[in-house]
Amino acid sequence: MTDELKPLLPCPCCNGTPSLMYGPGGDIWVKCPVCGLQTEMHPNNAAITAWNRRAEPDGLPEWLREKIQGSIHNAYECLDRSAPLNNKRSNRNWSVLIDALEWVLSLRREDAE
Ligand SMILES: [Zn+2]
Repeated sequence: MTDELKPLLPCPCCNGTPSLMYGPGGDIWVKCPVCGLQTEMHPNNAAITAWNRRAEPDGLPEWLREKIQGSIHNAYECLDRSAPLNNKRSNRNWSVLIDALEWVLSLRREDAE
């Protein structure tokens, strides 16, 4: 295996400096000596590629989606309450807010499938 060894990114869990580990059969893997996070064993430098790969969510995290959905729910309640008052301006403001929040909820990474 003549591939040049690529530099290892810091540990995604603890930001520790990882080590390249060598098994008896020539397998290699990457392990963080601080928190113990490690890749699976690979027969080649795929261990480094696996270690350096960072998951990036395609959409918003669940906690943020829940907060935004709660805000949309509250905005709909305000919209309902202001309707009988025939307060068009207030209704319009809540509608704009709801549209904006729903737009945020619909956001996805552009290259996501
Ligand atoms: Zn670590």
